Amino acid sequence: MNNHVTVLEIDGNALEHNLNYFKQKLQTETKILAVVKAEGYGSDAVKIAKFLENRVDYFAVAYTHEGVALRKAEIKTPILVLHPLTQNLQAIVDYRLEPNLYSFKIFEAFLKLADEIPLMNYPIHLKFNTGLNRLGFWHTDIPQILSTLKETTHVKVHSLFSHLAASEDAEEQEFTLHQIHNFAYISQQFYKYLDYKPMLHVLNTSGILNFPEAQFDMVRIGIGLYGFGNDEQETSQLKNTHNLKSIISQIHFIEPGETVGYNRAFIAKTRTKTATIPIGHADGLSRKIGNKKCFVLINNQKAPIIGNVCMDMIMVDITKINCDEGDEVIIFNSQEMIKQISNSAETIPYETLTAISHRVKKMLK
Ligand SMILES: *Cc1c(COP(=O)(O)O)cnc(C)c1O
Repeated sequence: MNNHVTVLEIDGNALEHNLNYFKQKLQTETKILAVVKAEGYGSDAVKIAKFLENRVDYFAVAYTHEGVALRKAEIKTPILVLHPLTQNLQAIVDYRLEPNLYSFKIFEAFLKLADEIPLMNYPIHLKFNTGLNRLGFWHTDIPQILSTLKETTHVKVHSLFSHLAASEDAEEQEFTLHQIHNFAYISQQFYKYLDYKPMLHVLNTSGILNFPEAQFDMVRIGIGLYGFGNDEQETSQLKNTHNLKSIISQIHFIEPGETVGYNRAFIAKTRTKTATIPIGHADGLSRKIGNKKCFVLINNQKAPIIGNVCMDMIMVDITKINCDEGDEVIIFNSQEMIKQISNSAETIPYETLTAISHRVKKMLK
């Protein structure tokens, strides 16, 4: 049980709004895969998946145990495991998860298992490297993959996919188009030599926004579902899904010359009223946002974080704010606040969201 007062509220209406925003950008036949890896970008993958299960065609997680958790919560939708790892292939089958097979090592390990059990037409996905150079077969591997596939009825390729390296970046448009072109070429080889047609997909959130012509059969939406597009204009069309809240635990009045927090990093110049909030770097707040780099909201007013972010707490300046112990504190409730925290922490919203730790209570509203 988690009864922490520091809560991440997931806004179901916002999630639905964002999904519909992307749906309206897609051709009617284009399928939607919702990416719920890393606990649904720092929230709660089970809650998000339950909310979305009748609205999307597929889920994706990064690792096998993330998929197992969804199946244990009785999610029935197909789940693509992007990075299953050979050690976990038995669990993949046990929980009817669909592995991305990205190299001969894992492909052959899976075929061996499929042979032993034996499986029949088990859904697999093949990923091709078209320039990210992270996971994936090379196009030169195609003949060997095809000849292996011809000899088995234990697996069936449900999809072929690739991942773009810089789909958000207008300056890399040429590179991205090259990736898309190569992916189309790879797909053609399979369509020519297989007697069935696997689904094709290459676009993530920013790919959908920048390369609408490359939707193929399905798109993979992650950060967009959680409220972030490529730029401010797109982001303003989306709604914030992650609202991080806490309360004031204690209020102090400190005199000029007194200090606040570790290393005495804040020194009061005048009489200062401070509030202590039960959220710290162990909850996912970067230590880089202390010392007035960022603020929280109390009764709609900005309270700057003073001193260093502690493991379990922050202190904020509430000298000018009328408030009491127990009052609500908003750490963030808008994309602008998440952006500002990310900028101060020298990172991007992806990291700010996924940093929200297990200790924070998660609720879908
Ligand atoms: C994380 C991930 C996505 C989602 O990307 P967003 O930019 O969050 O939409 C899509 N595809 C793959 C392979 C991923 O790893």
